[in-house]
Amino acid sequence: MCIRDRNVVVQTKKDRDKASKFPEEFIHEAAKVMSHGNEDWKKARRASDFSLFQNSLEKIVDIKRREADYIGFKDNPYDALLNEVEEGMTVTQLKPIFERLRIATIKLLEKVKNSTIKPTDNIIHAGFDTKKQIEFSESIIKKLGFDFNFGRIDLTTHPFCTSFGMTDVRLTTRVYENDLRSCLFGLIHESGHGMYEQGFDKRYARTSVASGTSMGIHESQSLFWENMVSRSSEFWEWAFPILQNKFPEKLNDINSNEFYKAINVIAPSDIRVESDELTYNLHIILRFEIEEGLINNTIQVKDIPEIWNSKTKEYLGFVPENDAKGCLQDIHWSFGGIGYFPSYTLGKLYAAMWFDKLKSEIPNIKDQFSKGEFTETLDWLRKNIHQYGRSKSPSQLCIDICGKPLNEENFIAHIERKIDKVYYNS
Ligand code: ZN
Repeated sequence: MCIRDRNVVVQTKKDRDKASKFPEEFIHEAAKVMSHGNEDWKKARRASDFSLFQNSLEKIVDIKRREADYIGFKDNPYDALLNEVEEGMTVTQLKPIFERLRIATIKLLEKVKNSTIKPTDNIIHAGFDTKKQIEFSESIIKKLGFDFNFGRIDLTTHPFCTSFGMTDVRLTTRVYENDLRSCLFGLIHESGHGMYEQGFDKRYARTSVASGTSMGIHESQSLFWENMVSRSSEFWEWAFPILQNKFPEKLNDINSNEFYKAINVIAPSDIRVESDELTYNLHIILRFEIEEGLINNTIQVKDIPEIWNSKTKEYLGFVPENDAKGCLQDIHWSFGGIGYFPSYTLGKLYAAMWFDKLKSEIPNIKDQFSKGEFTETLDWLRKNIHQYGRSKSPSQLCIDICGKPLNEENFIAHIERKIDKVYYNS
C-alpha cells in the first residue's frame, strides 16, 4: 500500500469511528435542540434580548457537554469540541498563546491610540459602481492564481466558498456601492479557501483526504492572501494604478500609500466581522473564554450578557450598545458551533508563520507582489500545504514547515510592523 493509499484509509477510518460514537437518539435530540436554538436566537437578536435565547442555549450547552463525553477527552471536555475543527489542539496549548496575544494586542492598541498620525478610511466609502468592483475583484483573484477553469463566482448575502470536488470550487461574494472592501477582500479571502481546495494532490481526488486538514489551516489560506499579501503596501504599488484606472473620478487624488493606509485603519468595533486585523483576535479570545467556561460549568448561560459586556470593556474599551451588538451578534452558538471560534485566530497565527517562512526562503517575494507576480507564492503554498490535504495534521504541517509548534510571535511582529508603517510612517 503506498503512502497515499494509507492516508486515505486512515482518514476514512477516523471519520467512521467518529460517526459511530453517537447513539442515534442523541443525534435526533441534538438536531431538535439546534433547530429550536436557531429560531430562538433569531427572535432574541431581533428583539435584542438575550433572555429569549437563554433557555435554548442552556440546552445547547448541555448537548455539547454530552457530545464531548461521547467523543472522549483527556483533560478538558472543551478539547473534544476543539478537536472537531482543529485536530490535536488543546486548551492547555491554546490558553497561554491567547493570553499572550491578548496582552500584546491591548498594548498595540494603545500604541495606535497614542499616534499623532490618524489615517481614515473615508475613501473606501466614496461610492463605487458595483459592476466595476466585481470586475476588478475577479481580475485580482485570477492573477493570484484562482483557477476559473475549475471554479466560479456567484453573489450572496453571506460570502463563503464551497467545493464539489477539486474541479468545481465555487466562491460567493457580496458587493456594496459604499464599501469598497467588502467585495474585494471578501473575494480574495474566499479565493484563498478556493485555491486550497483546488490544490490537493490530484491522486487524492474524491477520497476523504481531499479536504482541508482543519478549519484553522483552511482559514490560514484565506487570511494569508487577504492579510499577508493583499493588505501589503507592495501589493498596492501594483494594484492601485489598476484600481485607479477603473475609478479615476474617485481615486485620482490619492496615491497607493494613502490607499494602503485606508484599508489598514485600526478602529475597534463591537461587531466581530467588522473588526480590523488587530482587534479581531480580542473578539475571538473573549468568545473562547466564555465557551470554555460554559462547557466546564464555571460560567452559567444566564451570566453571559454581563460577562460579555465586562470583557468587551476590559479588552476593547467600551460596552456594546445592546445584546444584538454584543452577545447575540454571532449565529454560531445557535446551531451548536461551540469550539469553532478559535480557528479564526489560529488561521491568522498560522498565516503569519507561513509568511515569515516564505520570506526567509524567497527573500524577494514582496518585490514580486509589487510587480503583480504571485506564481511563486502559490507554488510555495501548494508544495508545503495544499497538496497534503488531510494527510498531515495541523500540528505536523506547522512543525514540518516552520520547525516549531504554533505560536503568536510571528503574528504580533507582523501587525506591529504594519502599525509602525500606517501610524508612525516608519
Ligand atoms: Zn474564511
